[in-house]
Amino acid sequence: MATRFENGIVVTLGEKNRVLWNATVVTDGERVAAIGDSVEMKRRFPGAASVDCSGKIILPGFICTHHHFYSTMARGMGIPGEPASNFVEILERLWWKVDRALDEEDITLSAQLPLIDCIRNGTTTVIDHHASPSMRDGSLDLIENAVRQAGLRASLCYEVSDRNVTGGGIAENERFIKKVVKGFATGSASGAVPGDGQIAAMMGMHASFTLSDATIEQCVGIARDAGVGCHIHVAEDAADRHDSLAKYKLPTVNRLQKLGVTGEKSIFVHCVHIDDSEMDILAATHTSVVHNPESNMNNAVGVTPLLKLLKKGVLVGLGTDGMGSDMLVQMRCAYLLHRLANHDPRVAFLEAPQLLLKNNAEIARRQFGLRLGELAEGLPADLAILDYQPPTPLSEANFLGHLIFGLVDATVDTTVCKGKILMQGKQILSMDEARIAARSREIAPLMWQRLQAL
Ligand SMILES: [Zn+2]
Repeated sequence: MATRFENGIVVTLGEKNRVLWNATVVTDGERVAAIGDSVEMKRRFPGAASVDCSGKIILPGFICTHHHFYSTMARGMGIPGEPASNFVEILERLWWKVDRALDEEDITLSAQLPLIDCIRNGTTTVIDHHASPSMRDGSLDLIENAVRQAGLRASLCYEVSDRNVTGGGIAENERFIKKVVKGFATGSASGAVPGDGQIAAMMGMHASFTLSDATIEQCVGIARDAGVGCHIHVAEDAADRHDSLAKYKLPTVNRLQKLGVTGEKSIFVHCVHIDDSEMDILAATHTSVVHNPESNMNNAVGVTPLLKLLKKGVLVGLGTDGMGSDMLVQMRCAYLLHRLANHDPRVAFLEAPQLLLKNNAEIARRQFGLRLGELAEGLPADLAILDYQPPTPLSEANFLGHLIFGLVDATVDTTVCKGKILMQGKQILSMDEARIAARSREIAPLMWQRLQAL
């Protein structure tokens, strides 16, 4: 059924961004049927349902290209012993215990809650990276069910590493990829449509320093056969670079390229500690990088050479790394971080929005085969509708100023994905938020107890 989201300010984004006042987006099924003047849209689509968006701005739904749903239940948890003093200790004392402590119900709840958060923040597409070694097989199905229930789009993968068991997680990825990617079983998937447009799959891998050559080669073989990319943390901390240089006499990106991990569908997360030649490899192989500024600051690992990567033509997107699901906040964090890090108040005004609005859309296109992050007739009906009364004139010419200094603090009122209203008037419609959060509060302390015993 068609719906008119009417009387708002519509920002189309895309190659030729348009800002339309008193405008309407008409959706029909999973697609946008038309965009234009509200009076005209009412005349053309008189039978459509109507959602009043006056006092609001209508944007394409936001995209997060690196998330960890499973980190949810660590919130507020005490960690015994001395505080971790470096990145590897953070992994050993926190995350490599959190993932091992997760059981079946934890996985479902810890996906449902950030998915609700995504809806609350207008984030309609997510690329997630999951780990739960004690409940590994079938874990991606639990997350898929939560994503379908939420009504969002997600690309899922399981984090393969050799740290608990050699090649742990390969089978779970392969099983899930086979299920999701059409044609995989017959070996005809090269260039095939990756999934159904709602769920996509990647080959997940932890990081160079927890993976042997043999394990990486096995992962790459499966990913190649299926026509999917690899999703791996790269040189997040200097420890990953040092490990690669010491064991393999190669910088991290060089090692991964040699083993076939690079490529247009692959995502190299972080890339904080890489040199110029590694950047050239990323550019030449069209490998995407995902920048997670809040996470990098939280773990005190360093600053991704963002401006240099962009200058070299590397496609750099923006993720949260599990810190949250608000992409506008992440965008402003990137804007602030790179101004400070470069001691230059002229930079990042264009680049930070570019990561979120343009580059994330391109990374998502490579995963889902869809043109997301843009509103136009015939494109997917994914909308983020925010309360926003511009205090100054707003047009295409100054949209980024409004984005960085105004919209980042605006509240999302309505979220639409695949044409379905998932939140309206700030009420989540697709999930029972209070019940899910209450149950999570009940079982999180049990997860914390199991974790203390590890
Ligand atoms: Zn991560």
